[in-house]
Amino acid sequence: MIKKKLINFIQTRTGFFCLLVLLFTLKYIFAAYHDFNLGLADPYQHLIMWISPIGSAILLFSIGFYFSKPIVSYCVMLLMDFANTGLLFANILNYRQFSDFITVKTIVNAGKVSPGLGKSAVALLQFSDLVLWLDLIVVIILLLMKKIKVDQKSYGLLTPFTLTSLGALVLSLNIFLAESSRPRLLGTTFDRSYIVKYLGIDTFTVYDGIKNEQTEQVNRNANTADLNQILTYTQKSKLPVNPEYYGAAKGKNVIVIHLESFQQFLIDLKINGKEVTPYLNSLYHNRHTLSFANFYHQVGIGRTSDAENMLETSTYGISDGSLFTAMGSTNTFQAAPQILRERGKYTSAVFHGNVGSFWNRDDVYKNMGYNYFFDQNYFSSDRSDRIGYGIKDKVMFAESIKYLERMQQPFYTKFITVTNHTPFDMDEEDLDHNFKTADTTDKSINNYFETAHYLDQAIREFFAYLKKSDLIKNTMVVIYGDHYGLSNSENETLAPIVGESSDTWNSFNNVQMQRVPFMIYSPNLKGKIKHEVAGEIDVLPTLLHLLGISNRNYLQFGSDLLSPKYKPWIVFRNGTIVSQKYVIIGGKGKKGVVYDRKSGKQIINFTKQEEIEIADLAQKAKKSLRYSDLLNNHNLLRFYTPKGFKPVDPSKFDYLSNYQQMEKLREHLNKRSTALISQRGKSTTNLYRTDAPELNGRLDEITTIPDSVSDNHLVEKQNKSDKKTKKAYN
Ligand code: MN
Repeated sequence: MIKKKLINFIQTRTGFFCLLVLLFTLKYIFAAYHDFNLGLADPYQHLIMWISPIGSAILLFSIGFYFSKPIVSYCVMLLMDFANTGLLFANILNYRQFSDFITVKTIVNAGKVSPGLGKSAVALLQFSDLVLWLDLIVVIILLLMKKIKVDQKSYGLLTPFTLTSLGALVLSLNIFLAESSRPRLLGTTFDRSYIVKYLGIDTFTVYDGIKNEQTEQVNRNANTADLNQILTYTQKSKLPVNPEYYGAAKGKNVIVIHLESFQQFLIDLKINGKEVTPYLNSLYHNRHTLSFANFYHQVGIGRTSDAENMLETSTYGISDGSLFTAMGSTNTFQAAPQILRERGKYTSAVFHGNVGSFWNRDDVYKNMGYNYFFDQNYFSSDRSDRIGYGIKDKVMFAESIKYLERMQQPFYTKFITVTNHTPFDMDEEDLDHNFKTADTTDKSINNYFETAHYLDQAIREFFAYLKKSDLIKNTMVVIYGDHYGLSNSENETLAPIVGESSDTWNSFNNVQMQRVPFMIYSPNLKGKIKHEVAGEIDVLPTLLHLLGISNRNYLQFGSDLLSPKYKPWIVFRNGTIVSQKYVIIGGKGKKGVVYDRKSGKQIINFTKQEEIEIADLAQKAKKSLRYSDLLNNHNLLRFYTPKGFKPVDPSKFDYLSNYQQMEKLREHLNKRSTALISQRGKSTTNLYRTDAPELNGRLDEITTIPDSVSDNHLVEKQNKSDKKTKKAYN
């Protein structure tokens, strides 16, 4: 009975329409689980994903209803379904190859990708792809066999209009649900897969198209007069070098360790009588470490990516999102990897245990000139190794060595940790039972100390290897915290632990909590703890000068922290200013508040001198942010190539074959190879010691290159075609 009703319903045009929407939704859900890795966590996210294809499918297919001629109406509906399936299919193929979705930029750049590197489309096909097309084939056959008849009724305009409205309604509901699960999803896109997860491929494609057009428009309005103004301004931040430190680490390897969400207050802090981070504390006080006690993070909405951007380029993040995701695919960068390659013959790499598309890193790193990017594909894929935001830190460091030792020296490498990331979850097996964490009412505070303690152990293990392998002798290690881990709303609960009172906790205290570690360690470096106010914007000029590379010609907003003329002041992305004397919140004006930084007391009555100093700081801070935004929003660096700088050619980098590239280069250089493994004639991975339970009894995870990395048939193919060309020439 019901079956008959259903069959009769399908014979109507509305029924046919519903059938197509239902079938498309089903195959979309199939693809989402089978082909994409969307990181669906709770049932709510699954539910939103199921809804995500419906709205746009209704909107698209309803177009068919606007054609009054029945046969045309059916054809247009099928055509729309066909196109929508095609888009989904293209994304599946792209995802199989690049683990990413198709953007306007991908399409435009498709021709620029070095030919031969990509797998042919045929090689990417899977049997399951049939599922995507099967419904269309069956429906068309049924139509041809007249099992489904074309409904000859006339529908006027009301039905199509109702359907279109329904589509818009479902789409709005989808966006509403997505926003409630992930606030400001569209405003702060940090990963394309998040948008696809919540809003589906169609909405993502439209969104990406709009964003791309906006960027292009902004760029068209750019102007070189702006650039000259900025150059004049930033020239003022160029300071005389400190002869005691200039070139102190010349030619050395650089290892940057990005401590996720790690705050300065953790340093030397004891919980229940035990140090939270004993190893980092020992480094902080080491006589060969330059440590900064008043180093502030300056990130905005782009958080981790803002910190990375400041460290690599000495320009600020943008005011309304993440520079990495908003313009990282298109902007011109003059970043550390390229400067060091040009000025010091450095090879560069990033190690990070999350997917490469997070924060758009796989695009940005190419534009910054990174040779290699080792994302989670390069690490053991066992589920238990991962928590929250990627491969656990101990595992990530341990499994990096087999790649690190193959890099040509000197190298500039960055290790991005993830375990100490909110909500600071840890598996029971990774807890140190000798360390008892705090017992506050706030679970994330208690957890925070445990993940920070874990991170500290991971750093200790990594340093032990650097020493055992003698790599440390020729290396400068830079350690920094990217931004706060505990938010202002948690600080009042935290107050007693950091020796303050919850009752008197105020915005000055919140500002002081934005301090993060910054330490530079090298065996022969003259260390000390420096107390000048400093920030992430100042890191690159400082590093360049330690390496003996002048920053004079580069457009950078920070200053060398070691210069005898260094003026200690910084500005947060939200406009808060910290100088040696003042903390200025909200600008000095009606709503603004100024504190004396030493005493923490609010200044109510200002002396003439104070008025002048504060006004001067406010003006400098405002200009700094404004000029940086002007530079980045308009991509002005494309108009400026400093002397001796070669613009990056991102198409030269391919992060799918890092291993093969390193090995090929080693083979090519032969005796001249400066890779650690070449110098020592054998691998150093056996020197690595870790107590990570995930690696217990699985030493091969540390020592052996995974098959998925070494059997890259993409590269085999490339080599084969290379050989063929060679033969032809011989
Ligand atoms: Mn972060």
